[in-house]
Amino acid sequence: MAVAVGCIWLLLLQGGEDFSLAREKMVTEQIEARGIQNPNVLRVMRSTPRHLFVPPSVQFQAYDDRALPIGFGATISQPFIVALMTDLLQPAKTDRVLEIGTGSGYQAAVLSRLAREIYTIEIVPELAQSAAKRLAELRYRNVTVRQGDGYQGWAERAPFDRIILTAAPKEIPKPLLDQLVPGGRLVAPVGATFIQSLTVVDKTREGDLRMRSAGTVTFLPMVPR
Ligand code: SAH
Repeated sequence: MAVAVGCIWLLLLQGGEDFSLAREKMVTEQIEARGIQNPNVLRVMRSTPRHLFVPPSVQFQAYDDRALPIGFGATISQPFIVALMTDLLQPAKTDRVLEIGTGSGYQAAVLSRLAREIYTIEIVPELAQSAAKRLAELRYRNVTVRQGDGYQGWAERAPFDRIILTAAPKEIPKPLLDQLVPGGRLVAPVGATFIQSLTVVDKTREGDLRMRSAGTVTFLPMVPR
C-alpha cells in the first residue's frame, strides 16, 4: 500500500515537474534566444500554465515551438508570438486592454498579469464559453470574456489603453482605432489570408495614427462581418 501510494505520488510529482521544466525550456530556447528581454514578459511566460489552455489530446505538445489546434478551426498561437506581441503591446499595470480573438484565453491570461483589466471578445460561442470557464477556474479575476464580433470592438467598455488582435483583419477596423485612447497602442496582424504584417499603431496625444510593421506573421483570418 505504502509503495503504491508512493508511486502515485511520484507520478503526480513528475507530471507537474515535467510541465515546469518544459515551460522553462520554452522560455529560454524559444523566447529569450530570439531576443525578447523584457523581464515582465519573461516572468509571465514562465508562470502561465499553457498546458491548461490546450485540449488534453495535445497537452504533451503544449510547450512546443508551434501553434496548436484548440477546436472550431481555431489555434492557440506559438509561444514566441504570444511573447512578442505582449512585448510590442507594452501594457502598463494601470492599463485597460481589449483583445479580439479570445480562443483558449491564454493570451488574455498572460496580459492579465501585466495590466489592470482585460476585456476579450470571441466570435465562436463555444470557445467564448470554455475560455470564460477556464479563466474563472484558474482565478484570472481581471479578465472579462464576451461572445461577439470583434470588428465592432466593445463600445460600452471603451476607451482602451491597449488593443491586441489575435485574428487577422484585411485592414484595421475603424471602431477599434476609435476605441483607443490618445497615447494608446494597438498591435495586430494585418493583411491577406496566409501572410500578414504584424502592425503596431500608436495614437499620438493629438489623435494622429503612426503605424509600423514589426515583421511578418501568419494568423487565422478574422471572420468577416
Ligand atoms: N488569442 C488566442 C488565439 C486566437 S486564434 C489564444 O491565446 O488562444 C483566433 C481567434 O479569433 C479564434 O478563436 C477565432 O474564432 C477568433 N475570431 C475570428 N474572427 C473573429 C471576430 N470577428 N471577432 C472575434 N473573434 C474572432
